[in-house]
Amino acid sequence: MRVMAQLGMVMNLDKCIGCHTCSVTCKQAWTNRSGVEYVWFNNVETRPGQGYPRRYQDQEQWKGGWVRNSRGRLQLKAGGRFRKLLSIFANPVLPNIRDYYEPWTYDYEKLTDAPLGDDFPVAQPKSLISGEPMAVEWSANWDDDLGGAPEHGPRDPVVERIRKESEDKVRFDYERAFMFFLPRICEHCLNPSCVASCPSGAMYKRAEDGIVLVDQDQCRGWRMCVTGCPYKKVYFNHRTGKAEKCTFCYPRVEVGLPTVCSETCVGRLRYIGLFLYDADRVTEAASVADERALYEAQLDLLLDPHDPQVLAAARREGIAEDWLAAAQRSPVYTLAKDYRVALPLHPEFRTMPMVWYIPPLSPVVDRLAETGHDGEDAGNLFGAIDALRIPVEYLAELFTAGDPAPVRGVLQKLAAMRSYMRDVTLDRPRDESIARSVG
Ligand code: SF4
Ligand code: SF4
Repeated sequence: MRVMAQLGMVMNLDKCIGCHTCSVTCKQAWTNRSGVEYVWFNNVETRPGQGYPRRYQDQEQWKGGWVRNSRGRLQLKAGGRFRKLLSIFANPVLPNIRDYYEPWTYDYEKLTDAPLGDDFPVAQPKSLISGEPMAVEWSANWDDDLGGAPEHGPRDPVVERIRKESEDKVRFDYERAFMFFLPRICEHCLNPSCVASCPSGAMYKRAEDGIVLVDQDQCRGWRMCVTGCPYKKVYFNHRTGKAEKCTFCYPRVEVGLPTVCSETCVGRLRYIGLFLYDADRVTEAASVADERALYEAQLDLLLDPHDPQVLAAARREGIAEDWLAAAQRSPVYTLAKDYRVALPLHPEFRTMPMVWYIPPLSPVVDRLAETGHDGEDAGNLFGAIDALRIPVEYLAELFTAGDPAPVRGVLQKLAAMRSYMRDVTLDRPRDESIARSVG
């Protein structure tokens, strides 16, 4: 056992209101420069939606990404020697600026200098690239207004995939729209494919806390990391010709401050903490054949920070005592491993992502129609997890490679907790059996 420490984050999606404060404060801190106008180290996606860059989850479109094999499993795109050689000189299948969005400002002079008239003047969008007036066709969160409606362009690839297989096609249509927000940063993966794909050795994972960084002096701008990252969380600065990415705010973390996105989050939904994990078993866990088993394999890598054997092994690796104490009071370990209510995003990408999500607990749809109430009491929810407004199948495609069982388990626990706390708040008799009923 080779114990290493990893900083991780858990986000509770029930609490995200999509205000984008995290994105804006991150941008002000890290990407408020020319060459990275289009870059959001932290972005908040509308779900269902195409994401940012659009369709990043549709791995089959990216060279160097993932394809489905004949058994329907995702695997790395095969590349012959010639293709690998070619890819050193040409890396053509990258998200382009239209997949992110063409950044713009507004022509404010139109407002201030407009002659008096009957109509209120309007500030026209103006491209930050060409400086010309432009018609905005796409940007992050464009999907907010579309509600997943197919007539307004391509749908969320995850919805498309489920809908194809589902008998209840209406469930994924406009009439039964559901929506929630998914904040995203770099996953600071245990098995980072960006690091593996960098020909210059510029991308690296810090030994002390697992933060994945780009050495700006070493980077030669090949952009293999952009194609290699399945989450599309490495960006190219077209002014400096170097790759850039989320740094987990390491200059802040090193002096004991939280990341900017966590500190400014309006919903207080981000938890930061340390994991201890077994570095010797990462490759084996990432290679598990059944992609539905990857969530468990990933969970299995996280070690109990109270186990004396783990602590002894960690000390042998030189992990400091204050770091071990931090791992012992880590909320991310508690939420992911002890309570098992936090799930990884797309574990089937096999990079062992270290940002975990507590899925949103939505109202029971049928109950809403029947009574006008959201049916959140445990009695209603336990038997009705499959009738929630946000389909369990959709959450399972995001967080457990399509396996609905772990998602159901999490939602039942959340339902039980919410019901119990409602009794506490309303000073009603408490049902102590609730906790036992969900394990
Ligand atoms: Fe690298 Fe992408 Fe994983 Fe971040 S999310 S560590 S950029 S592979
Ligand atoms: Fe969601 Fe918090 Fe970001 Fe607002 S600041 S969008 S609540 S994660």
